[in-house]
Amino acid sequence: MDDAGLLAFLVVKPADLPPAPVVRTRDEALARITPAANPQPCVMCGAPAWLTRTVATEAGHRWLDLCRPHRLAVSDWRRTQQPHVPFAETVNVLVEAAESVGLRVRVIASNLEE
Ligand SMILES: [Zn+2]
Repeated sequence: MDDAGLLAFLVVKPADLPPAPVVRTRDEALARITPAANPQPCVMCGAPAWLTRTVATEAGHRWLDLCRPHRLAVSDWRRTQQPHVPFAETVNVLVEAAESVGLRVRVIASNLEE
């Protein structure tokens, strides 16, 4: 998935991210996350950023500052790009749970990318 997909996954608008240089240096990135230098806030929760990177967007290059939990969430998303449990298994568990209390369930799903 590209940067646009990553931002869509995070539900982040590119215009809400700070502008970044097209080519960033390691020092520029470290300055954004170094504890002694008052790290930038995580774009998702406002906690001190633990990782930063630049993303190419339709609004230009932007900084994406993330705290550790959100960084790990993105890392996992990038590695698998799939839910941890197959969707069908998740649905089956929900249906069985509903039926166990006497409810009848019908699941209607569609591909969000269409
Ligand atoms: Zn966060």
